[in-house]
Amino acid sequence: PGEVGRELVARLEFGKADFVLLDDVSMDEFMENLRIRFEKGRIYTYIGEVVVSVNPYRAMNIYGRDTIEQYKGRELYERPPHLFAIADAAYKAMKRRNKDTCIVISGESGAGKTEASKYIMQYIAAITNPHQRAEVERVKNMLLKSNCVLEAFGNAKTNRNDNSSRFGKYMDINFDFKGDPIGGHISNYLLEKSCPLTLLSSFLSFQLVKGGPESLLRSLHIQKDPAAYNYIKVGGQLKVTSTHPTVADAMKVIGFTGEEVHTVYKILATILHLVGLRIWFYVTLIENGNLVPVLAELLATKQESVEKALLYRTVATGRDVIDKQHTPQEASYGRDALAKAIYDRLFCWIVGCINDIIEVKNYDARIHGKNTVIGVLDIYGFEIFQNNSFEQFCINYCNEKLQQLFIQLVLKQEQEEYQREGIPWKHIDYFNNQIIVDLVEQQHKGIFSILDEACMNVGKVTDELFLQALNSKLAKHAHYTSRKLSPTEKCLEFDRDFRIRHYAGDVTYSVVGFIDKNKDTLFQDFKRLLYNSSNPVLKAMWPEGKLSITEVTKRPLTAGTLFKTSMISLVENLASKEPYYVRCIKPNDVKSPLLFEQERCRHQVEYLGLLENVRVRRAGFAYRQTYPRFLQRYKMISQFTWPNHDLPSDREAVKRLLQGCGFEHDVAYGKTKVFIRTPRTLFTLEEQRAEM
Ligand code: ATP
Ligand code: MG
Repeated sequence: PGEVGRELVARLEFGKADFVLLDDVSMDEFMENLRIRFEKGRIYTYIGEVVVSVNPYRAMNIYGRDTIEQYKGRELYERPPHLFAIADAAYKAMKRRNKDTCIVISGESGAGKTEASKYIMQYIAAITNPHQRAEVERVKNMLLKSNCVLEAFGNAKTNRNDNSSRFGKYMDINFDFKGDPIGGHISNYLLEKSCPLTLLSSFLSFQLVKGGPESLLRSLHIQKDPAAYNYIKVGGQLKVTSTHPTVADAMKVIGFTGEEVHTVYKILATILHLVGLRIWFYVTLIENGNLVPVLAELLATKQESVEKALLYRTVATGRDVIDKQHTPQEASYGRDALAKAIYDRLFCWIVGCINDIIEVKNYDARIHGKNTVIGVLDIYGFEIFQNNSFEQFCINYCNEKLQQLFIQLVLKQEQEEYQREGIPWKHIDYFNNQIIVDLVEQQHKGIFSILDEACMNVGKVTDELFLQALNSKLAKHAHYTSRKLSPTEKCLEFDRDFRIRHYAGDVTYSVVGFIDKNKDTLFQDFKRLLYNSSNPVLKAMWPEGKLSITEVTKRPLTAGTLFKTSMISLVENLASKEPYYVRCIKPNDVKSPLLFEQERCRHQVEYLGLLENVRVRRAGFAYRQTYPRFLQRYKMISQFTWPNHDLPSDREAVKRLLQGCGFEHDVAYGKTKVFIRTPRTLFTLEEQRAEM
């Protein structure tokens, strides 16, 4: 009770630790509580089992060994809200009930998702393997190190976040029957974000290579002076942090060979040089042509081949194969596409290598029992910018999918279970966003399909034609609009914009670039160039370069379709697990630990659907359990049920037990399960049990 008392006092002083306890569920009260907690340095608050986290933008002394000990093995409500409590809950659920669980972390750029995912991993690593088994220690070390490598390659400085993840990441951690980590698997959802990928990737390349020893830089033809690479300024200054030694070490520790690491550096240097390559505007000529031999050397190919791939394109006309010269625009487009594709391939290759290294090996379920999983998803939140394009469209679709999952799991299942169990339920109105998910992803009718069709048109393919197709096919859709469909809309451009009413709000997208980005084409010539490299690692990254020009017939899948497919399978995977949620909020745009920008935060609370979440929680029951299981756990606290009861049913026995404790007002009895409304009741039961 001492702990409970302290916790209650803390609640009064530092705002309410669970939004469910608000006197009145309104936006104003929600915001007030969120602000008080932030200002008092309480960055975590619950909504039932959901953690709401506000980025503190300062080092917090709440992640150390002693804090870990405080949360280890405890129930969620025994301690102040914390990521560790959620991590522990997910871990316990997995261990006690043999269930796969997952932790979904969402929020906008800079809200603190990646930091949260790291603390969660750290916590899990800290509480497992009490017997210090060497093999488990090795695996844990690999999992943590692999994170560091991925971050080095996949994060970059943007306007919004100095360490922004350029990719969405889903990581499975596998556990053996003892609950110790034995391996993992990473899926990445790569996507360009808010600034051109070619610049970002060259920036990263520069950052990674720069800290290396001089001999390395010389062999890569990289100059020491950052000013030489002014063309890759991202988000203002080109600030160099030398990450080289740590990344190279981490790569070697997790099992990359020296040769592989060196190839990685060559590839990075290639990107850096490639982006600096200027293509002469009037005649197709490479202006700073001295870079061509450098590129050839790094890619282990011939100079002529590099030059030819940059300036010409091989086309098959009937039976003839001819070299067609690029226009300067085509050549520049090709160069950027090449830099981007090399980076994508490199990243995917690294993820693949890491997966080979960390995957579970020699696990025999017949001997060791079921191998269970905790998944951690760190993925970009909803984005609404001044100018929204294909990337925002994909990201926002992803968030619609996750919201749909949330609705299905939390809202719908909840209501349906109450109905099944015959428990009176006050219906809660919530917006079911399935209609928007369909608008985007439906076969033949959805926006991705319309886009693919537009891309496949023979003859003229333009963004405007795509917009026209959208307008004619989606005119009646309640969540779609454009200037053509509602001419009075001043803020939509006629030949450019369409608007989607997302669950989180209206977003106007500009169709400019949709076609190119969806096709995401890299000229076949480049693929052949890289496949013909005498560097085996590089060659292995480009297997499709093997095909000759006349053999290439199959259209590659579009970026949109690939993204859609990966999202559908991600959500299927998450749906098969027991989910826990972390919702991250960014308090201000200036990375200040003191500033709580009311409007900014309110907007995020809105589109994360947090208020609705509180409503459902309050209307619902925090805890439920079948009668036999409930008795199994708590029968010792009542004379009527210990050691056995003589009542006509377990249901009656549970009723008698709870009446005896004075919890009648807080429970409901379903057909097969007992439902408890507030967590505190459960907590008290746990305490009484512990005192027995
Ligand atoms: P993106 O979508 O751009 O990848 P993100 O949500 O992953 O963004 P993070 O990189 O996790 O954002 O956080 C941005 C920065 O905020 C961190 O680099 C760190 O400085 C600060 N930060 C986030 N969470 C915490 C925390 N719990 N304690 C201290 N600082 C934090
Ligand atoms: Mg991140």
